[in-house]
Amino acid sequence: MAEHCCDMMRAHVENVCDQHTDRFECPDCLIHHSKVRDSYGLIIHDGGTSVMTISYCPWCATKLPNGLD
Ligand SMILES: [Zn+2]
Ligand SMILES: [Zn+2]
Repeated sequence: MAEHCCDMMRAHVENVCDQHTDRFECPDCLIHHSKVRDSYGLIIHDGGTSVMTISYCPWCATKLPNGLD
């Protein structure tokens, strides 16, 4: 299981609702964590799988891995 910076981040990253099997289709899923790139992003609900990479946790302000280092 991946380590996350805080409980809020973990809750959002691991949140899966029972109405949407695809997290990108769920308006309640805000944060996507890419295990491949080890980066975090805000899910942009435009019907696709767009993610806006974020560099800092919005809750605890921890610097996040962005997959570029
Ligand atoms: Zn955090
Ligand atoms: Zn949902």
